[in-house]
Amino acid sequence: MKAAVLREVNRPMLVEDVELDAPARGQVVVRTAAAGVCHSDLHFIDGSWPMRLPAVLGHEAAGVVEEVGEDVTYVRPGDHVILLFVAFCGRCRFCAMGRPNLCADGRLRDRTLRIDGQAVAPFLGMSAFAERMLVGENALVRVREDMPLDRAALIGCAVMTGIGAAINTARVQAGSTCAVIGAGGVGLNVIQGCALAGAARIIAVDMAPAKLEIAREFGATHTIDASGGDAVAQVQDLTEGGPDYAFEAIGLPQTISQAWEMVRRGGEAVIVGMAPYGSVAEISAPSFLDEKVLRGCMYGSTRPRVDMPRIVDLYLDGRIKLDELVSRRVPLGGINDAFDAMRRSEVARSVIVF
Ligand SMILES: [Zn+2]
Ligand SMILES: [Zn+2]
Repeated sequence: MKAAVLREVNRPMLVEDVELDAPARGQVVVRTAAAGVCHSDLHFIDGSWPMRLPAVLGHEAAGVVEEVGEDVTYVRPGDHVILLFVAFCGRCRFCAMGRPNLCADGRLRDRTLRIDGQAVAPFLGMSAFAERMLVGENALVRVREDMPLDRAALIGCAVMTGIGAAINTARVQAGSTCAVIGAGGVGLNVIQGCALAGAARIIAVDMAPAKLEIAREFGATHTIDASGGDAVAQVQDLTEGGPDYAFEAIGLPQTISQAWEMVRRGGEAVIVGMAPYGSVAEISAPSFLDEKVLRGCMYGSTRPRVDMPRIVDLYLDGRIKLDELVSRRVPLGGINDAFDAMRRSEVARSVIVF
């Protein structure tokens, strides 16, 4: 099968023939229908997160079950599925606590992918930039067959992370005020999650005017161009002393500090973005006296088999937007151009369609 192989950091990926093992017990082969091009992949391409190469990246995908191994009971060939980049084991402390997004034991670590005959483990348990994926059945969520798979793919990372950050992680209250720093794939979904929760004011902060325009479509009531001056002061001016919630959806130490600074007394800063490996963010210590809360977020605190089918229903009922997230559909061979477009902030999301 074909896959986009990364052999060196900061070099283009090459579409090559790679091999996938047959499914072992509890494993499933999924034919990839679509895979989103996510900013988190870029951290591995540019080396700001370390990883062993060669590798096949991609972690935001949907497809159709093609083959199942022994003892697989959750899916059958032909089922439509969204893939999880955090699979749940169902046995650990976090799974038992109802926090499967924090599970560290669910991911398939077997070396099931062969590049030049060399066995490698799939990236985040899936390696989605390939025509097929081999995963454990706990890395799958079955979805309705009337759900278009290119948009279902986005639910696997950006949409779940963003909507989940608002609904599950922060539990945004109706009537509240929210600021969202970064209006990319994740930030737009935080915005529509806040809107879904009934936030009265949603302020989008970005440096790209085109993204701020899309942010309004997703429910932002106000927008701030951070290139035009101090974003913290501008947000505080609009919110009488700061928003109830400030979401950071970029993953930069400076914007993490800004989220903490801008939130009102007793408010909550929720850090959603994936920061560079080993980076450190500074926060002013005296403002703990303001009873602010600083909260991390992983995968929108999702319980995937509950949340993802709900997101599918909300989309098919017209209550959330997914079509507008897809700026471009490209074949696997266009993957390097898609990452370049992301580096230039040109797109909300490119989707690789197989
Ligand atoms: Zn992602
Ligand atoms: Zn677990």
